[in-house]
Amino acid sequence: MLYGVFSDVHSNLEALDRVLGFLEDSGAEGYICLGDLVGYGPQPDECLSRIRGLRNLSIVCGNHDLAAIGRMDLEWFNPYARAAVLWTQRRISKESRAFLAVLEAKLETDNFTLAHGTPRKPPEEYLLSPAQFQENVPYVRVWPLFVGHSHMPLCFRTPDKKKGKAEVLFLEDSQEVRIARTPSRVLPIALNPGSVGQPRDHDPRASCALFDSEKGTFRLSRLDYDIPAVQAKIREAGLPEFLALRLAFGQ
Ligand code: ZN
Repeated sequence: MLYGVFSDVHSNLEALDRVLGFLEDSGAEGYICLGDLVGYGPQPDECLSRIRGLRNLSIVCGNHDLAAIGRMDLEWFNPYARAAVLWTQRRISKESRAFLAVLEAKLETDNFTLAHGTPRKPPEEYLLSPAQFQENVPYVRVWPLFVGHSHMPLCFRTPDKKKGKAEVLFLEDSQEVRIARTPSRVLPIALNPGSVGQPRDHDPRASCALFDSEKGTFRLSRLDYDIPAVQAKIREAGLPEFLALRLAFGQ
């Protein structure tokens, strides 16, 4: 099955529509969403209603989603993130609230595992280093693992059987990763599709990926979208100016 994989939408409808259009055109038959659907951006309800309508959807929530409905306190949020969470709390609809209320930050299916951050501490911990990846391996039963949260397109894996050392790859546009397996199981690998609505790797284009579960491939794509339109909506909504500016720099 071909899955569209995406994360960290952050209420950015222009970027989300671009990504979903691309994944649909690419033949996606199912979707994997790694959380942080809301926060930072100006259109939470519109983004949630698009995502709710996706077929064969496997989804987890992120820290911003939990905070938006009062399931996580704001102590660890920076001032911009906090301002956006409070704005989102005041604004989101009953339907959006109900949808977010039943999501967990980690999900295991028959074919893969999802965690917003890491499987060990799913909404909070950022998966950023090979050492951390190795520490998290015992917390996963079904590979591959898909993660979000860092807003960086990354792959962690243990390719060297002799050394057994994990490595990290920074994924670029059109880069394809092969998911290694033995006849009986998929080998440990963590894949992050980057962020749809607020990339932080100095590339402002929306990020997403296609996962082919039969071929065992994960292919990253970067897509241009109308950044000035989102910036105008952020200003109109009265959200912090910094949240508009950062979109143009991909950070
Ligand atoms: Zn996020």
